[in-house]
Amino acid sequence: MSYKVVLTDHVFPEESLVSQVRIHAGVDLEVHHIHDEGSLIEITRGADAVLVETAHITRRVIDNMAKCRLISRHGVGYDTLDVDAATDAGIMACNVTDYCTSEVADHAITMLLALARSLFAADREVRSGGWDVFTACGKNRRIDGQTLGIVGFGKIGQALARRATGFGLNLLGYDPYVPADVMQAWGAKKVELDELLKLSDLVSLHLPLSAGTRHLISGERLALMKPTAFLVNTSRGGLIDLAALTVALQEGRLAGAGLDVFEKEPPDQDGPLLKLPNVITSPHAGFYSEGSLLDLHTRQAKQVAAALAGNRPDNLLNPAVLEHLRRL
Ligand code: NAD
Repeated sequence: MSYKVVLTDHVFPEESLVSQVRIHAGVDLEVHHIHDEGSLIEITRGADAVLVETAHITRRVIDNMAKCRLISRHGVGYDTLDVDAATDAGIMACNVTDYCTSEVADHAITMLLALARSLFAADREVRSGGWDVFTACGKNRRIDGQTLGIVGFGKIGQALARRATGFGLNLLGYDPYVPADVMQAWGAKKVELDELLKLSDLVSLHLPLSAGTRHLISGERLALMKPTAFLVNTSRGGLIDLAALTVALQEGRLAGAGLDVFEKEPPDQDGPLLKLPNVITSPHAGFYSEGSLLDLHTRQAKQVAAALAGNRPDNLLNPAVLEHLRRL
C-alpha cells in the first residue's frame, strides 16, 4: 500500500526529515512550502499523514482531509493546529516535545545573563571603539542572590530552574497545574502570578500560548514589575502585549527584555521595539542545535510510522480520538 505523507511548509532544510521518514515509515515525503488556506486544503485533501511546521491547520483545512490519520506539528507549541477539529474528524494530532528542552533552557538563561551583564551593550561599546565600562554596563548587577520568577513550570521551566540554582538565584514559580511540592523539589516557591511579577528581578516565560494566555503579560501586569527587572520570552510572542512592553521599556518602567519569539515573526523592522538599546533578540532560535533538529526529525518520522501502522504515536494530543479513529 502506498501512502501520501505531506510536509506543508518548512523553515529549515528538510533533507534530514525526508530521510528519517523514508527510514522509519518507508515513504517519500511530499515537501511543500505553502501557508494559505486554499492551497493547504488542496495538498492535504488526499494525504494519509500531514506534517506541519508554521502553517495554520484550521478546522476548514481539516474538514477537507478525506483520509488523513495523523497531523503532526513539527515542534512543541501547537497553537497553530486546531486540535478539537482534528478530534472531531477522527484524526490523531501530535506535537513533538522534549527534543529541545535543554536548548531552550540554555537560551533563556543565556538571555537572562546577557541582560544582567549588559553583554550586547558591552559588545557594541568595544566594536564602536569605546572602552567605557560604566556607560556600556551601567545596569550590571550581582546575579547571586537575585530572584528569578519562572512562569510555566513544565519541562523547560524545570530545566531552567536546574541551571538557575547554580547561579545562586532564588526561585519563584507560577503554574496553576504544577503542585507546590514539585516546584519545591526544584528549589522554587510556588506563588501567584502577580506576586511573582512584583517580587522578581528576572522573569522568564515557559508556558504555551492559548486563548487564555494571550497577552498574559499585559500592560497592567508589566506595571507590577520592578523598574530594574528583566523579562525574557522564549515561549510564544503572543504571551506579551508587545505594545505595552515597548512603552514600559521606553519609559524606564522595566530595565530590559530578551525576546526570542514575537507575535508576528519576523517582527516589524521599523517598529520602535527593535530600536531600543535595552532589548535583545534572536530569530525564534531557542529550540535549535544540530542535535535537537535530528531528534525532532527522527521522532516525527516515528510518529508517521506508528500512525500508518495503525498504532498510537508518541505525544498524542487528543487521546479521545482513539474512540472514533479513522481506519486506513
Ligand atoms: P510543558 O508542557 O512541559 O510546560 C508548559 C507548562 O506551562 C506546563 O507545566 C503547564 O502547566 C504550564 N501552563 C499552562 N498554562 C499555564 C498558565 N496559564 N499559566 C502558567 N503556566 C501554565 O512545555 P515545555 O516543553 O516546557 O515548553 C514550554 C513552551 O516553550 C511551549 O509551549 C512552547 O511554546 C515554547 N517553546 C519554544 C521554543 C523556541 O524555540 N523558542 C522551543 C520549544 C518550546
